[in-house]
Amino acid sequence: MNPFSYNRVTSSEAALHAGTAQGAKFLGGGTNLIDLMKSDVEQPTALVDINHIGLDTVVMTANGVRIGALVRNSDLANHPLITAHYPLLSHALLAGASPQLRNRATTGGNLMQRTRCYYFADTAFPACNKRAPGSGCAAINGFNRIHAILGQTDEGVTSAHTCIATHPSDMCVALYALGAMVEVTGPKGKRVIPVLEFHRLPGDDPAKDTVLGEGELITAVTLPTAKFTKHSWYLKARDRQSYAFALVSVAAGLEMDGNTIKSAGLALGGVAHKPWRVPEAEAVLAGKPATREIFAQAAELMVKGAKTYDHNAFKVELAKQCVVKTLMQAAQST
Ligand code: SF4
Repeated sequence: MNPFSYNRVTSSEAALHAGTAQGAKFLGGGTNLIDLMKSDVEQPTALVDINHIGLDTVVMTANGVRIGALVRNSDLANHPLITAHYPLLSHALLAGASPQLRNRATTGGNLMQRTRCYYFADTAFPACNKRAPGSGCAAINGFNRIHAILGQTDEGVTSAHTCIATHPSDMCVALYALGAMVEVTGPKGKRVIPVLEFHRLPGDDPAKDTVLGEGELITAVTLPTAKFTKHSWYLKARDRQSYAFALVSVAAGLEMDGNTIKSAGLALGGVAHKPWRVPEAEAVLAGKPATREIFAQAAELMVKGAKTYDHNAFKVELAKQCVVKTLMQAAQST
């Protein structure tokens, strides 16, 4: 681990000021960052501890709910506003990590989680464009069972752009289906980013996970007025029943009128560099009866264009089956 300074701040203003230092990173729960520092994947020269700046409340607004960036995952999952109006988010949060980690991890930190690609997390492997830009990608010809089937950059092992990593969060898959917004503040002021645009695909810069600029701090996540309260489901397919990342996950919300779907929010996790949302799949559901046949059509659209590797071809069929099952559960839930 490299030497670093530690600065505990007590206001957003102080955090922003300290966060502009070269090599600085914000420290929330630290459940991912500290692990990566121990293995030398992350090497900040300054840690700005933001755990004492507030931003830890969940409040109802005129347009939905505002969740402070420092709200812990456990607190959010069990908050009365979330369990009553956004059970999809609660369900996804409780599918993630372990109780101990959820007690510590924050909403903002969950958005910033880095991939669990084995080759990214282990500096013994020299080739990883995300960790060491320009070094190539060890995963594409390596063990790639957990890797992406959609949206990846695949220009070969030695290309400086190749990355087939997946995004690890459960919470974010639900936020995509719910149409959340991310509030940030930074040296250039405040801005609001639709969560669909917050995370990046690897493109030609796999090292960059999000669109956050230098020194920008996530302050809150907002959810629009709830419309999927009665009909939603989160399904996570994984190797163990707890404390395991998704091979495939699905967040689904349905706005129903009798057996007719008025609108849908649908997102896949574990298949791409960011949660995967396909507007055409949601559109095909709108105005249709809630049947297995129509859900299967949406499932086909969700994986359209998939490309697989030596060990992850199973994900295509798994994703389709999971989408159908999740939509069936959402339609039946109350
Ligand atoms: Fe690195 Fe991405 Fe390749 Fe994994 S998939 S080794 S994170 S470049």
